[in-house]
Amino acid sequence: ASFYVMNDSKVPVTFALRKSAPTELYSIMSKAVNSIADEEMSHILLVNQLSPRDNQFSLRAFMYNNPGMTVLACVIVITLISAIFLIAVRSHMKNELMRGRLQQAEDTSRAKSEFLSRMSHELRTPMNAIIGLTKLMRLTGEIPPEIAENLEKIDISSQYLLTLLNDILDMSKIESNKMSILEKPFSLEKIVSSLKIMMDMQAEERRITFECRLDAEDAFYTGDELRIRQVLMNLLSNAFKYTKEGGRVTLSVEETGKEGKDAWLYFCVADTGVGIKKENCEKVFEAFEQVSEGEERIKGTGLGLSISSNMVKLMGGELALISEPGKGTQFFFTLKLPVAEAEEVETQPKEDAEMEFLTDRKLEGMRLLLAEDNELNAEITAALLEARKIVVEHAKDGKQALDMFLDHREGYYDAVLMDIQMPVMNGLTATQRIRSSGKEDAQTIPIIAMTANTFREDREQAMEAGMNDFIPKPFEIGELYRAFQKIRKKEEKAE
Ligand code: ATP
Ligand code: MG
Repeated sequence: ASFYVMNDSKVPVTFALRKSAPTELYSIMSKAVNSIADEEMSHILLVNQLSPRDNQFSLRAFMYNNPGMTVLACVIVITLISAIFLIAVRSHMKNELMRGRLQQAEDTSRAKSEFLSRMSHELRTPMNAIIGLTKLMRLTGEIPPEIAENLEKIDISSQYLLTLLNDILDMSKIESNKMSILEKPFSLEKIVSSLKIMMDMQAEERRITFECRLDAEDAFYTGDELRIRQVLMNLLSNAFKYTKEGGRVTLSVEETGKEGKDAWLYFCVADTGVGIKKENCEKVFEAFEQVSEGEERIKGTGLGLSISSNMVKLMGGELALISEPGKGTQFFFTLKLPVAEAEEVETQPKEDAEMEFLTDRKLEGMRLLLAEDNELNAEITAALLEARKIVVEHAKDGKQALDMFLDHREGYYDAVLMDIQMPVMNGLTATQRIRSSGKEDAQTIPIIAMTANTFREDREQAMEAGMNDFIPKPFEIGELYRAFQKIRKKEEKAE
C-alpha cells in the first residue's frame, strides 16, 4: 500500500479483495495504485471520499433529491391538518347546536310543567267549591233519594278529578324538585289496615282475593306516611286494574333488618294479572306511558308509576318490578326508616275527626274571622261552619281582616281563618300586622292559614309570619277540626 497526502496527513491507500479472489489480481491492482501520480490520486480521493457529513440525513438534500415525494408529503400533512381542524370545528358546532336544543327542550319542558302546575292550581279553587257544595248538600237537610244518589256521583267524580289534579301537581313538583318528604312518626299497621279497608270493596266487586301481610318487629316508624300510602295505593290500584276475575293481589310489608335506630322495611305488591312484557319493564316508570292494550288504558293517565317511583326515590329507595306476561307482576321497594315511639304518633284518622266535627257541641257559638277573597269559597266555608252553629264573619282581604280584628274587643274572635293570596293586603302581611298590633289578644289569637299553596316553603312562610297552623285547600272538615282541637288543647294547657 502507498501513502498519499491529504489535508497534511498521510493516508494509506490500498485495495481490499475478497478472500476467494486470486492473489495475482491483488498484486496487479496494488501495482496500478502505486503507479498513479500523487496529484491524480488526491483528486480521485477527494471526489470519491464519503465524508461523515454526507453520511447524515439532510432534509434539504432529501427534498432536493426527491421533489415528487416532498410534494406528496406536504399534501398529506396539509390534508391531515385541515381534516383535524374541520373535525374540531364540526364537533364544536355540533356541541353548540346540541346545547341550544337541550336549552330549548328544557325551556319547553319548564314552560309545560309551569303551565300544568298553574292550571291544576287554578282548577283546585273551583274544585274546592264543587266538593264543598256537594258535601254541604249531603250534610244538611232531607234530600230525595235520587238527588242523594246524584250527589254521591258528583262527589265521586269530583274526588277523582281532584286526585288527577293532585297527580299533575305532584308531577310538576317532582320535575321542579319542589317535592319534599315529611318526617313524622306513623303507625305502619294503620297504613296497612286503611289500605285493606279501601281495597276490600274493590276486591269483592272484582272477585279478586286480596291479602295483606304485615311482619314488622316495631309498630311505629318515622317517615312520610301520606307518600308511602300514596305509593302503595297506586301499586294496588294497578294490581287490581290489571288482574282478571279470580286472580289474587297481595300486599306485604316486612321489616327485614335493623341498623342502629333505623329499620329496613320491604314493601311488595304482587298480583296474578296480565303481566308486563320485558321490553316494557322500564317504560312503565315514565310519565304518560301506558303499555297494556286492553280497555284499562282508558281508566288512567299513565302517571301513577312515574310519581310512585319518584317518591320512592325521594324517600331513599328504588321501585323495581319483576313480571312474567300472563302470570303476574310484583312491584317492590325497600326503605330505611328510623323507628319511632308510640307517644309521638298522632292518632285519630280523618274520618273520625269529620264525625267529631259533626257532633262536638263545644264548637257551637264559636266566632271565627274568615279572610277570603273568593266569594264562593267564603260562602261555602261559612255555610259548612254555620251548619255547626259556628259564627263566621267574612273579610274580603287582609286589610279588612286586620281592621275587623282591631275594631273588636279582646277575645271577640276565637280564631282567624286566613287565606294567603288576597288583593290589597295578603294573608302573611295581615298576620304580621295583627301580631304586632299591640292589642291584648294580638299574640294569642289562633290564626290558621287556609291556602291552595301547599308547598313546604308556603308552610314555612306562614309559620314565620306568625300563623299557628296550616290547612291546604280544598280543605277537609276533619283537618280544620283537628286544627281547632290543637288550639283548644293549647288553651287548656295555658289555663
Ligand atoms: P294512572 O295510574 O295514572 O291512573 P295507569 O295505571 O295506566 O294510569 P301507571 O300506574 O303509571 O299508569 O302504569 C303504567 C302502565 O304500566 C299501565 O298503563 C300498565 O300498562 C302497566 N302496569 C302497571 N302496573 C301493572 C300491573 N300490576 N300489571 C300489568 N301492567 C301494569
Ligand atoms: Mg296506575
